[in-house]
Amino acid sequence: MLKKAGLMAAAVLMAVALTGWNGTATQEKKAYAKSKNPIIIQGPMPIEAENLAKRLDSVKVEKSGTFVFYKGTLDGYPVIVAKTGKGMENTAAATAIAIERYKPSAIINQGTSGGHDADLNVYDIVLGKRTVNLGALKTTSKLAGEGIDPTTWIPMDLMASEGSAGEDPNAEKARYYEGDAELLAAAHAVKDTYKKGKVVEGTIGSADVWNNEVDRINWFHEKFGSSVEEMEGAAAAQMAKAYDVPFLGIRVLSNNKVNGGKYDPKTAAANQEYVYEVVKKYIAQNQ
Ligand code: SAH
Repeated sequence: MLKKAGLMAAAVLMAVALTGWNGTATQEKKAYAKSKNPIIIQGPMPIEAENLAKRLDSVKVEKSGTFVFYKGTLDGYPVIVAKTGKGMENTAAATAIAIERYKPSAIINQGTSGGHDADLNVYDIVLGKRTVNLGALKTTSKLAGEGIDPTTWIPMDLMASEGSAGEDPNAEKARYYEGDAELLAAAHAVKDTYKKGKVVEGTIGSADVWNNEVDRINWFHEKFGSSVEEMEGAAAAQMAKAYDVPFLGIRVLSNNKVNGGKYDPKTAAANQEYVYEVVKKYIAQNQ
């Protein structure tokens, strides 16, 4: 999509040349930026979005409901930082609105997360090779008085069919949203700029739940292969998939119950530093 936008930009510059307009380098850069589809970087909480928003040039703020869009440029390319609010519903709505309004060429969903893997420490970063909804579940059948048994619950694929997810046996599996290969390549290319922890590929799990039960966390880790949990990624990934927009989740561990890693809110800023480098690289790769 970015390449198509590149052709459009070339057309704009050619039109400028043909009409004999002697634009300065800055004016040309502006025309180039205008004709391109923006990259959207999402962050749920103020501490997860505002540092990035401050680093954009020529920012204009637009709002829709509780969602805030900081529209600016980075290296002359249009970038929009979206403060989505916490949780799946906020994120799905903010993503769909942004796609309709701004026709993005790519979406990065980033922020903090809790570790599901004992080898990952607070400040390590997980690149979402896959993102999965950990809250889409079907319970097994039990009669009154037979109790509840969460470890027997079955994943439910909300995208499997238009029929009943409760009845469809094809829906009894987890839906994994793949991270975009070009975005992943940009993220790998700038891995060494991040000095506060390691950067690894993994599976990001999302739900409107903060899990503090280690046995339950281990169950997700084993059953879904989750590296970390948070409350937004899969909602954004589902919308990106619905509209066919390249997507990547990038999550720093702010806590890890499995190995005793205490919550550190400063990880949110560290992740934004890294994501800034990823976006710069992605822009450079596509020019
Ligand atoms: N810290 C708050 C909880 C809300 S913050 C409190 O205790 O009141 C939730 C945000 O942090 C979400 O945007 C989510 O994506 C992220 N997050 C970080 N660690 C998480 C974890 N272990 N489980 C779920 N969400 C987590």
